[in-house]
Amino acid sequence: MTQTQNDTAQDTAIDIRSLPKVSLHDHLDGGLRPATVLELAAEIGHELPAGDAGSLGAWFRESADSGSLPRYLETFDHTIAVMQTREHLIRVAREFVEDLAADGVVYGEVRWAPEQHTQRGLTLDEAVEAVQEGLEAGAAAAITAGRVIQVGQLITAMRHGDRGQEIAELAVRHRNRGAVGFDIAGAEDGFPPSRFADAFTFLASEQFPVTVHAGEAAGLESIRDALVAGRALRIGHGVRIAEDIEIEESADEDAPEGEEIGVANLGLLASWIRDRRIPLELCPSSNLQTGAIASFGTGVESHPFDLLYQLGFKVTVNTDNRLMSGVSLTSEFELLVDTFGYDLADLLELTLNAVDAAFLPLEDRDALAEHVTLSFDRAAGLDS
Ligand SMILES: [Zn+2]
Repeated sequence: MTQTQNDTAQDTAIDIRSLPKVSLHDHLDGGLRPATVLELAAEIGHELPAGDAGSLGAWFRESADSGSLPRYLETFDHTIAVMQTREHLIRVAREFVEDLAADGVVYGEVRWAPEQHTQRGLTLDEAVEAVQEGLEAGAAAAITAGRVIQVGQLITAMRHGDRGQEIAELAVRHRNRGAVGFDIAGAEDGFPPSRFADAFTFLASEQFPVTVHAGEAAGLESIRDALVAGRALRIGHGVRIAEDIEIEESADEDAPEGEEIGVANLGLLASWIRDRRIPLELCPSSNLQTGAIASFGTGVESHPFDLLYQLGFKVTVNTDNRLMSGVSLTSEFELLVDTFGYDLADLLELTLNAVDAAFLPLEDRDALAEHVTLSFDRAAGLDS
């Protein structure tokens, strides 16, 4: 039994873009620049639904917002179509890192599924190498622009496919050359992590970190399977863990006006995730668009982000697909500040959660945490 309460909103004017941020859930094929999609599509003769960058960007956002899953999935047909050659993968990965750096991200993990990028003859290894080359070029370009960023690859297997073991081996093969973790993505409902149980056992025996998309399109059973069969160290989204939390309104008549105090009863699974501090990669805007939070409401104020945060879950803030959702990590933080009244101390805690959840060695996380804390301290000093 835990007490929870909603803090009153504070008026904060925080320059979030300038603060160091950590991005753990960001898809490569969901983060292209519209102008780049246009240019690469023209090169390969791929037809797009719009002819200029402005309307193409709008088309992506409208498709994500349409509530139609086929239309949302169609957006990825176009981005994946223009990511089939070595040069195009390098370009997309480089710009991805440049855009993160310009947004103030200092450490990122980019996930993508190599098996979707072999349509024009690349091998899986060549695709991973091309993306790595692009990521490194992006980090170098960021330094030239006065920003330091490090980005690792999360190698994803598509859950409706049958290449889990092959992709797991690919990831492990590249562990000293950019791959920092493994993920499964795609249709969650009907394609549980246990389909790839052998691959996950292999990864565990190799001590290779795993995150699993779960608790987005499917509920608690999917999250449980990500932990048990997937041995996930983090949960991709995991937002539906809130379905395992029951709020009892308490009859506390002494509670100040506007501060609703309730008692939260956590089920076994929710307790496990919270008590063991298993990180949740929450993506507020995406969670709204995909209907992941439908059982809680339709607006961002209904997102259980704040409930999970106040209850002590290890929540992190992420973008999922920046192109489709028309967001950045800065704008997702701004959305949370506007909705839940978070202040600088909250943003620091959320960022340190992400630092600690990063698939980095401990000494690197400690150094990153120190950098983040110092920068936030400086921002706090400037604020006052
Ligand atoms: Zn995702």
